[in-house]
Amino acid sequence: AYNFCAGPAALPEAVLLRAQAELLDWHGKGLSVMEMSHRSDEYVAIAEKAEQDLRDLLAIPSNYKVLFLQGGASQQFAQIPLNLLPEGGVADYVDTGIWSRKSLEEARRFGNVNLAASGKVCNYFDIPAQSEWQLTKGAAYLHYASNETIGGVQFDWVPESAEVPLVVDMSSDILSRPIDVSRYGLIYAGAQKNIGPSGLVVVIVREDLIGHARAACPTMLDYKVAAEHASMYNTPATFSWYLSGLIFEWVKEQGGVAEMERRNRAKQELLYRFIDGSDFYSNPVAPAARSWMNIPFRLADEKLDKAFLAGAEERGLLNLKGHRSVGGMRASIYNAVGLDAVQALVTYMAEFEKERG
Ligand code: PLP
Repeated sequence: AYNFCAGPAALPEAVLLRAQAELLDWHGKGLSVMEMSHRSDEYVAIAEKAEQDLRDLLAIPSNYKVLFLQGGASQQFAQIPLNLLPEGGVADYVDTGIWSRKSLEEARRFGNVNLAASGKVCNYFDIPAQSEWQLTKGAAYLHYASNETIGGVQFDWVPESAEVPLVVDMSSDILSRPIDVSRYGLIYAGAQKNIGPSGLVVVIVREDLIGHARAACPTMLDYKVAAEHASMYNTPATFSWYLSGLIFEWVKEQGGVAEMERRNRAKQELLYRFIDGSDFYSNPVAPAARSWMNIPFRLADEKLDKAFLAGAEERGLLNLKGHRSVGGMRASIYNAVGLDAVQALVTYMAEFEKERG
């Protein structure tokens, strides 16, 4: 079967097989990683290797901390203002869809949020050009989501933000292509798409942004505490962290993020070209803002949606139903979903159109 789920998403089979082989007896130690103390030499080595591999993959500069935290990306929606937004300060937020909107609504609980730009003007089918953004001079940070998982809208550019730290939600496109980490103050990503299983959020944060948490910030949410304790102030999500490490190794073996970009480019090109060449399927997003990871599409007649999904499932094409808030279909094609999966999907879509279109 091919799994097009938006998250928790497909993981590379080779990684799952390796995790299975190590499940009961990790490296001959007679126990599972799940049963290890996070303070043991063995586990600390697993955790440190995972961090180093991620650093290698993204060429993370040495003045950035890499944190492996819990609470998912959603907890970062609060943790970021608690650490980065001083009382009385202003944070700029760009709204390009459901996730960036959720993050800005959460930030409003903690201080002044300026809505710098919103995709609402174009029905969230495009990203407003930065020349139209209303940015605040002296803002504490500028927040955006590089890929909107539900709307299928992705930045193919990095906002200019020389003075103000750029904070980005990369939950659904981290590791899908190379990035220049030095352009960001803080990058965060829930693991359950391109990184690993859920239960973990990775935060890559420039050191000078650490240590400014509000007095009322809970200890567990203070980046300084997390950094000083190497993300082990309390018991971390050990198994998710370990599995993420296996994924990082896998991405490295495949040729790193440059190779991921090459594969992802080919996958999205195939699917969008097919959709655009058909009168039966459609995707409303402006070409330059189309996501490479999450491709929503509609059938010409939504009464056929059920039959489309049933036929897909019969062929082992799983989880194509669009998000409940938008309907239609969505194919999430993260790193672990191969070109063969997209080819199988396109073949089925063509057949379905021929029979029912
Ligand atoms: N941000 C984006 C872009 C997402 O796609 C998601 C979840 O799918 C989240 C944030 C929320 O992540 P979590 O469920 O880890 O809190």
